[in-house]
Amino acid sequence: FDATKSSAIDSREESLFSSRFSDSGEESCLSRNQSVLYRKSSPHKPSSYLIAKLRSYEELHKRCGPRTNSYKRSIKQLKSGQIDNSSDCKYVVWVADCGLGNRMLSITSAFLYGLLTDRVLLINQEQEMVDLFCEPFPTTSWILPEEFPFKNETSGFNQKYGHTYGNMLKNNTINYSTQLLPSYLYLYLSHDCDHDDQLFFCDQDQALLNQVPWLIMKSNVYFLPSMFLMSSFDQELDKLFPDKETVFHHLGRYLFHPSDRVWGLITKYYQDHLAKAEKRIGIQIRIFSAKTSPFESVMDQILACIQKEKLLPEVETEKSLASPSKHQTSKAVLVTSLFRRYFENLNKTYGEHPTKTGEVVAVYQPSHKGKQQSYRNSHNIQAWAEIYLLSLSDELVTSAWSTFGYVAQGLRGIRPLILFKIRRAIPDPPCGRGVSMEPCYHAPPTFDCKTKKTVDTTSFVPHVKHCEDIRWGIKLF
Ligand code: GDP
Repeated sequence: FDATKSSAIDSREESLFSSRFSDSGEESCLSRNQSVLYRKSSPHKPSSYLIAKLRSYEELHKRCGPRTNSYKRSIKQLKSGQIDNSSDCKYVVWVADCGLGNRMLSITSAFLYGLLTDRVLLINQEQEMVDLFCEPFPTTSWILPEEFPFKNETSGFNQKYGHTYGNMLKNNTINYSTQLLPSYLYLYLSHDCDHDDQLFFCDQDQALLNQVPWLIMKSNVYFLPSMFLMSSFDQELDKLFPDKETVFHHLGRYLFHPSDRVWGLITKYYQDHLAKAEKRIGIQIRIFSAKTSPFESVMDQILACIQKEKLLPEVETEKSLASPSKHQTSKAVLVTSLFRRYFENLNKTYGEHPTKTGEVVAVYQPSHKGKQQSYRNSHNIQAWAEIYLLSLSDELVTSAWSTFGYVAQGLRGIRPLILFKIRRAIPDPPCGRGVSMEPCYHAPPTFDCKTKKTVDTTSFVPHVKHCEDIRWGIKLF
């Protein structure tokens, strides 16, 4: 915690996040102004084009958002099923799926799609996401109103719905020459979407979708990199993001401000445990299968990574710490995991033995929930607090495949050390530096829109690569 930092806010960063919010008449959002006291100001500056684009998006959202006359007219049009041109507002409604990390990545992707296509983003947040985030756009709301006409249908929407774009193409109820397009379509873009769903990523399909005022989208993945492969968007994206590695970093910091409730948890934990350390090391341990990732192997992998990367000093195992050290803690390790054993092991090691360098290492873990319960509000609150705490680390070790870790690294603005997936044996090396701080898109389309043939899409543009942790995934760098 550094109170002197507030005077040193970078004005470019400030203009991205806070200056347009006045204190009066807005819901309270302490994190918007206080985050600068806790996290390093970003060395990655947003382009002035991005800032201008966000300002004009905010105007659009204000004009078309919930409770406006344009919104009411658009809802009428939605109900009628037909496009009547009574409103010039267009929407992308985001529908939740999976864990919080997945959700934050797909929201960000939907938002960038909204920016690129002049659509207002509305979040169908469900009870489990209530009070996680502040409103990101001034004097309006991004929450889909309760009285949205298709609320139940929207919440329960799945790939089999007859009104998804993919199914309508399959059934030939829509095609590129259809004259009378419907006023809404569902888009299914989750990890298991099929070839027809994925036609969303083709320029020809975008020309059609562009005419449909309401797009209701379900996704649990960071589908954003695929937009960088489309010629409809590439010029605009180049201007918005001259540095392709920082897309989630900027959009994530812009969109996701912890609510006061979550901010209270973050700041208390930080001040109680992490603030005094000279260096903070976050270790995010995500176990997807206890069978393929047994405790002993993962623990050995973590220790091997720590040692190889010299993240923490070695201990003198033959000596014991005579009395609790009066020295100031020099390194604080923040472990996040659903399980407690990794923390216990590290805590025992550094709690019982002196280090060879004389440094003091303290180990902390905010919670150990045992299992994922993404449909409980309290779990998402805790998960968000921990993702944010990880993002305050100086160095970050993350687990392969985990969107929880991707969000932390992106908000932090750092290339993490990734603990590679264990396949029978502990990988060698046990961990490696990410090629960029961007999240990985786990399930990208693998065909060429023109020829419909399978291709390696990373050959299309120079700034998209396969991910370090998932070889068929793609990421910006
Ligand atoms: P992913 O499954 O690792 O890609 O990350 P997600 O965030 O999408 O889903 C995992 C969910 O499990 C989180 O949102 C949390 O609800 C829970 N979870 C996983 N790891 C942790 C952890 O270290 N701390 C807490 N509090 N929850 C966790």
